[in-house]
Amino acid sequence: MVIDCHTHIGFKEPLIASPGELLESMKKAGIDATCVFAGELNGCPTEKLLEELSHLPHLYPIGSVSPLSPSPPSLAVVEEWLASGKIYGLKFYPGYEFYYPYDSCVRPYLELLVKYNKPAIFHSGDTYSKAQGAKLKYAHPFEIDELASELPDLKIIIAHFGNPWFRDTAEVCLKNKNVYSDCSGFVYGSFQERDKRMFAEALETFMDYSLVHVFGRTKLLFGTDWPISDQSDYMKCVSELFSTSQEREDFFVGNALEVFDIKNISNV
Ligand SMILES: [Zn+2]
Repeated sequence: MVIDCHTHIGFKEPLIASPGELLESMKKAGIDATCVFAGELNGCPTEKLLEELSHLPHLYPIGSVSPLSPSPPSLAVVEEWLASGKIYGLKFYPGYEFYYPYDSCVRPYLELLVKYNKPAIFHSGDTYSKAQGAKLKYAHPFEIDELASELPDLKIIIAHFGNPWFRDTAEVCLKNKNVYSDCSGFVYGSFQERDKRMFAEALETFMDYSLVHVFGRTKLLFGTDWPISDQSDYMKCVSELFSTSQEREDFFVGNALEVFDIKNISNV
C-alpha cells in the first residue's frame, strides 16, 4: 500500500491537470491512494475539487483557504466540509499570499481542524518559479514552530521538506510532536542524477536531525507534488532509500493514515 499525500489538480496556468490523468499516473507508478489539494492559484477552489473528486474513493480531497482573499470560505462552510467528512485537511499557501502561519487571519480555520482532528498543510520552502511575486519569508519552515507551540493539538505538515531548509524542518518536527513533513516537489518533472544525490542527502539530513535513529519514527510522509513532479520517478527514486521496513511503512502509509485520520482505507 502506498499513499501519495501531496498532489494537485488544476484548471488554469500554472497548473492544468485532471483527476483522470492523476488516476492514470497513479496506476503507472503503483500508488494506491492520494491526497489531492484544492488551490485558488490553480483555478481549483474547494467546491470545484469536491465536484471533481466525487465518486473517486482513491482520491482524498484536501480543501484550501486563502484567508486574505476578498471572499474566503466562511467558517460555517469549512466546518460543514469537515463535519461531513468531505475533506481530510486544509492546505495553506502563505508564501504566495503573504501571511505567517501563526497570524490571526488563519487561526479560526486552524481551530476547526483541531476540532475535527485533521491536519493543516503549509506550503513551505522554495516557491514555484511560475508564480510571480512570492515571498520566502512567509514560507520558511522555522515559522511553523510558533504556531505548533501555540496549538499543540493541531497536526501540521511542512510541505516539500521545507526545501532547502531541511535541517530547520527536521528540528521543528523533532521539537514539536504535532509537526510532520512531506518530501514532495523536489524536482520539476523527472529526477536527474544530481537530483537523486541531493534528495538522498536531504533525506539523510532530515532523518539525522529529527533523530529517527533515537525515536524510531520518521515523521516524514511520501508525497510527490504531481503533476509538477513525476510520480513513477519519485517512487523509483525514494523506494530504495529507507534502511528499515518500519521506516518504509511509516513513510509510505502509516504516517498518512495517522495524520489525515483516514479510516476507510479498506474501501480503496
Ligand atoms: Zn504542491
